[in-house]
Amino acid sequence: MKKSVRLQRFMICAGAFFLICAFFLFPVTGPAFRESRKPSFAPEDKKSEEEQKEETPEILSSYDLGYAGTLEGKTVIISLFADSQYLRWTREEEEKTLPVLASAISYLTEEAQKAGKEVSFIYDWREEEDLFYTARVFFPFDEEGKFIDYLDLRTQSWVKHKVSYDDLLAEYEADNILMIIYFPDEDRSYAVCYDGEDIPEETMIMFKNANAATYAHEMLHLFGAHDLYEDGGYPEEYLQYVKKTYPKEVMLTVKERDLLKITKIISPITAYHIGWREDLPELEEYPLWER
Ligand SMILES: [Zn+2]
Repeated sequence: MKKSVRLQRFMICAGAFFLICAFFLFPVTGPAFRESRKPSFAPEDKKSEEEQKEETPEILSSYDLGYAGTLEGKTVIISLFADSQYLRWTREEEEKTLPVLASAISYLTEEAQKAGKEVSFIYDWREEEDLFYTARVFFPFDEEGKFIDYLDLRTQSWVKHKVSYDDLLAEYEADNILMIIYFPDEDRSYAVCYDGEDIPEETMIMFKNANAATYAHEMLHLFGAHDLYEDGGYPEEYLQYVKKTYPKEVMLTVKERDLLKITKIISPITAYHIGWREDLPELEEYPLWER
């Protein structure tokens, strides 16, 4: 059950981010949150590197795999707004997601330029009508675990019958393509990456009110970035190193005071994971970060 383990990891990671974001964005009227899970690997006492390596589950990389392969060149973003029998998107709400996505895209474009990479995105479904889709689901959003399984099946159906990644990729002469599935609820956003198993049509599951940094974080996952914060799957000393060396790393935190503003950085670790650089000096001391 590699996939559900992976999904669970993303759910946990994205959940923590959501909690932090929501705290800043909705200090008074924040939604009720679910209990956060504890990291499974955290050693209680100091163990050797070898022992820790054995205990740490393998972090599967989606770098250079799937329809969102490497973050270079042109990327097409499909938007699918999913209603439930209880909650529906209004056009106004749908349009409100665009400036948030635009901000994440500007951020990634600027960061790419700094790294000497050219990237561009086609995403505005008001201009490109074939990038806009709607769907209805008939399962509750609040059944943890089951929700992911149900959604996974629905996503596979959408990708097979509703949207053609191949056709859109060819039409836009793009290098990458991904889909954002929007839900009109407040919950944990997460990314469904392709690491060589299951379907290569990669998706991001975004809930209402996710900030721009969360969009950037989840999109980076599809191109190979790993979670670098607690619950991300790495041993404690890895987390401590990132916290100390790159406290503003976007895969460590997406906490922002502004919905649209991203003050986070893409550290050499994430730049290496997404292929923006070929080497990472830290690998000698932190070999689990190998791409
Ligand atoms: Zn994450």
